[in-house]
Amino acid sequence: MLLPQLTYLPVLLVALAAAQTLPQRADILRGEYGPWRANNDLLSYDLDIRVDPEKKFIRGKNTIRFKMLKEDTRIQLDLFANLNVDKILSGSTELKYTRELNTVFVDFPAALKRNSVQAIEFYYSGSPQEAGRFGGISFRKDPAGRHWITTACEGIGASVWWPNKDQQRDEVENMRLRVAIPNNLTDVSNGRLVGKTDLGDGFTRYDWAIHYPINNYCVSLNIGSYEHFSDKLGDLTMDFYCLPENLEKAKRQFSQAKPMMEAFQKYFGEYPFRQDGYKLIEVPYSGMEHQSAVTYGNRFANGYLERDWTGVGVSLKFDFIIVHESAHEWFGNSITASDVSDQWIHEGWATYAECVYVEAMFGREDALKYTNGYKSKVRNRQPIITARGVNQTPSQDQYFKGALFLNTLRSVIDNDTRWWRLMRDYCRTFRYRNILTEDLVHFFNERTGMNLSPIFDQYLRQAALPALELRFQEGDGSVSYRWKADVKDFAMPVKVGRKTDWQTIHPTTEWMTMKTGVKKEEFEVATDQYYIDVIRN
Ligand SMILES: [Zn+2]
Repeated sequence: MLLPQLTYLPVLLVALAAAQTLPQRADILRGEYGPWRANNDLLSYDLDIRVDPEKKFIRGKNTIRFKMLKEDTRIQLDLFANLNVDKILSGSTELKYTRELNTVFVDFPAALKRNSVQAIEFYYSGSPQEAGRFGGISFRKDPAGRHWITTACEGIGASVWWPNKDQQRDEVENMRLRVAIPNNLTDVSNGRLVGKTDLGDGFTRYDWAIHYPINNYCVSLNIGSYEHFSDKLGDLTMDFYCLPENLEKAKRQFSQAKPMMEAFQKYFGEYPFRQDGYKLIEVPYSGMEHQSAVTYGNRFANGYLERDWTGVGVSLKFDFIIVHESAHEWFGNSITASDVSDQWIHEGWATYAECVYVEAMFGREDALKYTNGYKSKVRNRQPIITARGVNQTPSQDQYFKGALFLNTLRSVIDNDTRWWRLMRDYCRTFRYRNILTEDLVHFFNERTGMNLSPIFDQYLRQAALPALELRFQEGDGSVSYRWKADVKDFAMPVKVGRKTDWQTIHPTTEWMTMKTGVKKEEFEVATDQYYIDVIRN
């Protein structure tokens, strides 16, 4: 996802406060991996639709293939209540279904056997409504008055415009997307274009093949009057789409994509969706990480909506949306959080990837400046990880504190060769997988041979930062130190003393004392490498 502008933050905080109350039925239906979701494993979608821009109307079907994991007669799918279910077929048999809010429970006449592979055709139609922060699906016009239809439905859910199993834990292995639109328009979706058919009735169908697992909210329509240009990085295709009027601006701005791709591949390993290629597509909203079809609306200017995003003079050196949304190809699209509670696996990591990009392009000093610029956006009011299974989106700390935490973790590892190897191993180990924070912590503990669990727990499952408490005994030139933290047994090395000659100490929650040649007023803590509070007595 992309970040809200700061002006939205008060609204967002109110919404989050409301979300702390008991989950509503709609949140359980949407957020819980309940028995009729858990009883099956998605194999593929084949979404075949006709989009009528004049009537703002969609009609079509999704053929959903899945394997039963246990014998059962019912599965849970989702489609927003304002869209019609026309019929649901299993072969030639019309299936019964029950709708509750945005959920559709589908019932089979006889129990489906465990391990059996099933295919159902879900026919639907209607006029989807714009909803959510980025519209969900928008039927707009571009500045020249031509139709411009786009989707951006993270959060609200893909079921705002098409029927699917709308959760994050289970992804299809691959997908077909067939989109029929008026002849004068172009659809740019995810994956590889494998066919374009004139239907003879004023409509043309675009057939896209997605060769990888994909989360529902990444499935994207971008229908407009697009111009196209392309580039290559080795055998990776890079395709760019913009409105005709913006061609020169786009050619200039999108030239940042190639060096960015090289930097990300260097630090995080090969681009995960090589067979589908990389695309960058102009849209009317600020941007979104749609898999292999990253969407862009950052006004062809550096920074974020022309602002210095972290406020320390580094953001204006690059286009924030290109970098942040493309980073999600590794963090969010390839490695996906199984529950929105753990969404820092997308947002904290994508934000940290911005810092890595800055380091690759402009050096370590700028990277530290950029990373620490994010401190001004952190609230430390609630833990980054929220309650599971109730559709509770974490606070904005998941982005900024998430990135500052990963920068801290790098300092704890304190060996860059090892750190970059860990980054590549992490991306390779969990490629195309859906994970929870526990999986990630287990990986880091195992690969480093360290017990990092208390550190992960303090930063992700507690609101407050760990505080380094210092007590100076000037008479004998010594300093006592300990961590003040919520997590029992919290222990983390930290660098103290003089900036030119840091000394690494290993505080725990018990007091320890050391001699120091540095006077109290000159005694520093490396707070740009470790995101912590310091209490001086
Ligand atoms: Zn994001």
